[in-house]
Amino acid sequence: MPVVYDRIVLGLGGMGSAALCQIARRKRRVLGLEQFHPAHALGSSHGGSRIIRQAYFEDPSYVPMLLRAYELWEDLERSTGRHLFLQTGGLMVGAPGCAVVAGSARSAREHGLAHDLLEPDQIMRRFPAVRPRPDEIALFEAKAGLLFPEDCVAAHLQRAVAAGAEARFGVRVTGWRISSEGLVLVQTSAGELAAEGLVITAGPWLGQIAPDLGLPLNVERNVMHWFEPAANAPQFGPDQLPIYIVERPECTPFYGFPDVGGQGIKIGYHHSQQVTTPEGLDRTVAPTEVAEMRKTLTDWMPDGAGRWLKSAVCMYTNTPDHNFVIGEHPNHQQVVVAGGFSGHGFKFCSVIGEVLADLALAGNTPHSIDLFRPDRFA
Ligand SMILES: Cc1cc2nc3c(=O)[nH]c(=O)nc-3n(C[C@H](O)[C@H](O)[C@H](O)COP(=O)(O)OP(=O)(O)OC[C@H]3O[C@@H](n4cnc5c(N)ncnc54)[C@H](O)[C@@H]3O)c2cc1C
Repeated sequence: MPVVYDRIVLGLGGMGSAALCQIARRKRRVLGLEQFHPAHALGSSHGGSRIIRQAYFEDPSYVPMLLRAYELWEDLERSTGRHLFLQTGGLMVGAPGCAVVAGSARSAREHGLAHDLLEPDQIMRRFPAVRPRPDEIALFEAKAGLLFPEDCVAAHLQRAVAAGAEARFGVRVTGWRISSEGLVLVQTSAGELAAEGLVITAGPWLGQIAPDLGLPLNVERNVMHWFEPAANAPQFGPDQLPIYIVERPECTPFYGFPDVGGQGIKIGYHHSQQVTTPEGLDRTVAPTEVAEMRKTLTDWMPDGAGRWLKSAVCMYTNTPDHNFVIGEHPNHQQVVVAGGFSGHGFKFCSVIGEVLADLALAGNTPHSIDLFRPDRFA
């Protein structure tokens, strides 16, 4: 008799590793399948750092999930003994009415989150590395900081396996279907596998592996850049430079991180409008892209843009409204999908693992996920 797993998780990146962990912790026989190696750099969950914050400019309705995400990251740190989160504080910068500042303030107010609104001189006094413009203000949130994404993925996998999950790497899923008995049959490069349910967390590959969902996803190429600060001063370290997102009229918002452990300061634009596919992705970074980023960085942090260290390419999977897609497959209740994280999903991996375990095992979740309905684009 071939094995029938309780659940198979397709894709073990940020979200899939968390789902595998949460399903295994509920004592189910669960198998995770991943085409590449653990915590690889070919999808969306690499690059050394990800912003995490609570005063969410995108929409206040994300805040309850964020509060739970913080708890679960802390729990994962405790249970694995790994350092996953670094609290640096966070600056949301721009004109008072812009989305990044006004949206963050709205979330903070609605959910009673601690924050300070700072004028340019106050910003420069507290954070000497940065140069806000006279017409800019900032919302500062002390609870914000960064996650180490590769370590987060490794920690979820570690805890999943310790709880009894099986994880196979270098196995590519080529398709899946529902059998006449209602099992999910998963075709892979290592043969066919069967399970009572399937969780699809395929990141930028979601459109290919679940085409029948007809999701209007677009995969976007986004680049991260690392520079050595020109002035080798402590003002660029995590004690004096928080994570930041800056919205300025001349470009798409950019975000960045302090210099953690001498790796350089990291900076990138949030969205590029460069639509691609996982196969067609251009992983080389042109000198003009580095020069353009250097200009933006210098304007924000005059001594920040010293020697260029490296750049790396990553993929966003965008939905038209930039809200996530999480829920049951409309035609197959045995299949749960999570994708379309639109460049802001990583901080939620821990809580989305919990949501996916709820949906896959109980068919519902106490978390409020109405915003993420897969059929909202129909
Ligand atoms: C440059 C950049 C900066 C970002 N910054 C932030 C940030 O600061 N804060 C934040 O919260 N979020 C941020 N994000 C977004 C966040 O990183 C993503 O939303 C999140 O990582 C998505 O995780 P995922 O599991 O959906 O995708 P992935 O991590 O890509 O995982 C999908 C996995 O599925 C596997 N897979 C796919 N198809 C198959 C198949 N057929 N067979 C087997 N395996 C398969 C893939 O190999 C991959 O490992 C950023 C993203 C990028 C690219």
